[in-house]
Amino acid sequence: MLKSKTFMKKTRSGGVMKIVREHYLRDDIWCGSEICTECKQESPVLQRDPSIESNLCSYPHYVIPDTNVVLHQIDVLEDPVIRNVIILQTVLQEVRHRSAPVYKRLKDIIHEQEKHFYTFTNEHHRETFIEREPGESANDRNDRAIRVAAKWYGQHLEKAESEADALKVVLLTNDLGNKQKAEESSLLVYADIIVHRLLAVAIEADSTYPDLMDKQKQSALSTNLNYRHKMSQYAQRASVAFHTQLFFKSRGILNEEGFVLFVRKNAIIVLIPKFGLEGTVFFDAKHKATPKLVFDEEGPTLKVEQHTFHIFDMVKVTISLDASNIQHQKIRMSLIEPVISGVSVPAPVVEPQAKKPKLDR
Ligand SMILES: [Zn+2]
Repeated sequence: MLKSKTFMKKTRSGGVMKIVREHYLRDDIWCGSEICTECKQESPVLQRDPSIESNLCSYPHYVIPDTNVVLHQIDVLEDPVIRNVIILQTVLQEVRHRSAPVYKRLKDIIHEQEKHFYTFTNEHHRETFIEREPGESANDRNDRAIRVAAKWYGQHLEKAESEADALKVVLLTNDLGNKQKAEESSLLVYADIIVHRLLAVAIEADSTYPDLMDKQKQSALSTNLNYRHKMSQYAQRASVAFHTQLFFKSRGILNEEGFVLFVRKNAIIVLIPKFGLEGTVFFDAKHKATPKLVFDEEGPTLKVEQHTFHIFDMVKVTISLDASNIQHQKIRMSLIEPVISGVSVPAPVVEPQAKKPKLDR
């Protein structure tokens, strides 16, 4: 089956180009499992009895790692104990784009017969190919493609295993969003550092305790870990902002040299190399009359009254802390130089900073 997608694209010279993308979807891509009676495969890669010699899972299973797990746990995947792993084409492509060395190591593993790593070309399989949805990022689309393929495997093998023991497919992910969405579609997933821990147990680099193998407890543990991880990220970000504000609060209004990083319709974004600080000088402040602004996208430049700002222009600005809203204190920048009448502010009188008293030795 041929799926083609046609769309129009505007060229640089202003013309219109018609682009046709062809994508072949096939129904002769096999699952690669020995237990399957439906697929017409000659030498299946995935073993009938894929028991990993550990208490990782109590049931036989195939593992599908997502891209991040491959990128971060390639050492573990190389261990001889880890076998019967399904590498999705989506994952393979993402790994190839993100790390050439890991991609090479993964290809080496796939070529080792005794590892039983199977590459499944999910992007060309009629039932697992998905189109990117409007507003969906390429990343989210790929995550979804991985979940769709993992789900397809679960259902496909369920059909096949009438006489065999229940064989499950386990999606390994350390991405919170992916985990939640996968759980909604009732896949078996492990999240976060649990993935690392379980893989470490599997290669006997670590020991475990019964609770870690309990699915309910593990799920609660993962949720808690993810929650704490997220909160610590928030705290980290808030802390950076807090300390930047504290710093400028203690220094008072400063007169600093900076460079124009970007120009916008109503503002310039200035970088102060001395502090590694970026800030915005707005020209349409509420309490002042707006000067004449001409924004030219092509430059890009912004003309404020008679002065034109280009990217990388040197400017002088004041930096101060606006504490008018105690909940949302903000770093403010105003223009000192170039002097534009009605726009620039006078340079503040900066008192020399009191030196820190020296410690007696
Ligand atoms: Zn099959």
